Amino acid sequence: MNVKRTLSLILLMLIVGLGAREANTQTPTATTPCRIGQQAPAIGFWTWAANSQVKVYIVSNDFKAEIPFLLQALENWNGASDATGSGVKFVYAGDTRGSLSCENCLTVMRGPVFDKANRHLTELKAFSARHDQIINYASITIDPKLTNPKAILDAVAHELGHNFGLLDCFTCKKKSTLMNQFKAVNVPNDMAVPTACDIAQVRQAYRELKIRVRPSPPPRNLIDEGEEPVDDDTPIVIPKP
Ligand SMILES: [Zn+2]
Repeated sequence: MNVKRTLSLILLMLIVGLGAREANTQTPTATTPCRIGQQAPAIGFWTWAANSQVKVYIVSNDFKAEIPFLLQALENWNGASDATGSGVKFVYAGDTRGSLSCENCLTVMRGPVFDKANRHLTELKAFSARHDQIINYASITIDPKLTNPKAILDAVAHELGHNFGLLDCFTCKKKSTLMNQFKAVNVPNDMAVPTACDIAQVRQAYRELKIRVRPSPPPRNLIDEGEEPVDDDTPIVIPKP
């Protein structure tokens, strides 16, 4: 083996070594971009006003051991508040008997909402005084069919995503977003914390809010999976309970 050949062999080994090291140290988020419909949900849905403190009331008669799981979903989004730039914080305000319409109030309760078509066992209702995407008050209703506490945690984390501007993304890859579809009733999907792509999209939603506020979103069943909603002039007004 001559000197020249030995040198080029060492060089080749160095390049291969470096390449391997680089691949190992890269995080999934650095190699995987947040493509809408693939890893990331589209934005343009309801949003709490930036930096608002949302008072959360729970109809405690409807729940027993599930309450800590409801609070965990709120905490998980509180933990992402700085990263998303929303500044929104949920504060547990106690018990209520029914849906409340106070400013920046969120009620969590039970009620029949099961929809075979999209398998949603939870429902978010939002009210906007100005008929735009900014929520004045909202409620999350959990179907009595949903009993597994871990599945409730995942479902509430998903619904909360809807009030940070995120739409459903049923075409998104598994584990890439909270906004994916649930495969079966009462089977947790182990997705309760906003993902890197969820955070990136909420960040974008709140950046966009500073530039323009969209009209109230159309009812969710009119929105195709993974698609950007078409702006609709018809405001959705949820009547007071
Ligand atoms: Zn959804």
